[in-house]
Amino acid sequence: MQLPEITKLDDDVIQVKIAMSYPLRWVNSYLIGGAAGWSVVDPGPRNPENELAWEQVLQQLDIPWSTLESVVLTHHHPDHSGLSGWFQERTGVPVWISEIAWSEFVRSWGTGNTAATDLVTLFSKHGMPDEITDQLPEHLDSFVAQVTPPPLPSFIMPGQPVIMGGRSWQTIETSGHAAGHVSLYDPQHQVMLCGDAVLPQISPNISLVPGSDPQPLASYLDGLSKLGTYEVEHALPGHRRPFGGFRERTVKLLEHHEERLHAMLQRLEEQPRTGYDICTSIFSSKLTLHQLRFAMSETLAHLVELERTGRAIATERDGLLYYEPIQHQA
Ligand SMILES: [Zn+2]
Ligand SMILES: [Zn+2]
Repeated sequence: MQLPEITKLDDDVIQVKIAMSYPLRWVNSYLIGGAAGWSVVDPGPRNPENELAWEQVLQQLDIPWSTLESVVLTHHHPDHSGLSGWFQERTGVPVWISEIAWSEFVRSWGTGNTAATDLVTLFSKHGMPDEITDQLPEHLDSFVAQVTPPPLPSFIMPGQPVIMGGRSWQTIETSGHAAGHVSLYDPQHQVMLCGDAVLPQISPNISLVPGSDPQPLASYLDGLSKLGTYEVEHALPGHRRPFGGFRERTVKLLEHHEERLHAMLQRLEEQPRTGYDICTSIFSSKLTLHQLRFAMSETLAHLVELERTGRAIATERDGLLYYEPIQHQA
């Protein structure tokens, strides 16, 4: 097995590329610290290859397991949080996560959770055919192994900093990509660990998820405006490469979503459409089930935003929801 790519961004911040599935291909984990101890931000999805990868990475960097102090999670998604329980089992370190992100973790993968059936009900109501929704429970179940064992969490309190490697990091909670997502900001070095809240090149997925934030796109846009006020020299994202121009990127993402809302509204002007209809007309038709799930959740997040801002309305016909634009008097 190949050693994961390791990049020393400065003396006490190290980027480690942990493998994950297509199309993202890797998640960025960050080791923050120094001689006094190390924290791992977003250790990656759990599987035997990634466990071995971490063994090799720590050995290569000459970081003994005993010097690990904490695991810090930006959000609950398996590609970020998955190995946290495994790290905790090995070392006993605390796993820091926001309280909201933890409740999302439990709602998604906790015992007796109804995440799969709730998603099937939601997608069916928005017109997704049965032959696709039928595959969702098994698909969602396949992620459980990536987040097992779950960690015993310690909560990042709103507004309270997190200490990593002797440096104090401000915590900035924003939602939309994932409820309770926390970005970590070091004002002295103007470094922002932004998780999946802001990504270079790709637009972070915004999902309407049953039982979670009912207006994820509005929350996401609010979060972007908030993050855009920070002075950031180095943005360290959860995927792709560290980048500059953080504020400009937040503006680009705001514009992207406004354009997408507009594109959807134009399709609704042709005729009333279900969410699934809009989804397949906006996104490529050649999506894997995983990609289609994200595309559908993203479409619904936008349709809900059109409704919330008085630009469209949903009406039920034969058990399905159809959206149409609201015509405003000139
Ligand atoms: Zn994510
Ligand atoms: Zn991610």
